[in-house]
Amino acid sequence: MPDPVSRPPYVPADTITPERDITHEHFRPGDQVTVVKGAAGGELWGETMTVVTPSWHTATDEDGWRLRNPRGGTRTFITAHPRYMIHTSRLCRDCLSHQRALEDRILPKIPAAGGPVDCGWYTLTELAQLVHTNDTARGGR
Ligand SMILES: [Zn+2]
Repeated sequence: MPDPVSRPPYVPADTITPERDITHEHFRPGDQVTVVKGAAGGELWGETMTVVTPSWHTATDEDGWRLRNPRGGTRTFITAHPRYMIHTSRLCRDCLSHQRALEDRILPKIPAAGGPVDCGWYTLTELAQLVHTNDTARGGR
């Protein structure tokens, strides 16, 4: 029988976020949002950031948002597509249902024990643009 500890964790694909239908106007400056990057301790895990101002998302050629990440170091300000973002500052039905869908898809596939598992769904470009791997595959730059 294989030893589960010595196996690299199985990292599920996020096929939900790329299909998410959410408008740019759903968010506004001052909102607190989380970009989910994986799971930890049986819960979704990600980075919580504050929405600053509208910003062009070059990878998708669509309207994005400039986000401020207090723990971002040299990458304190990044640009994200609205569909990557989940409201944490207020109760929001749209974001909650997206979060639930992610939980259903991701949590059963990542062991609850152990530290955070970054599933590697996102990359950050040199221009501090956050890009979902699925958007990169579509020919993002
Ligand atoms: Zn929302």
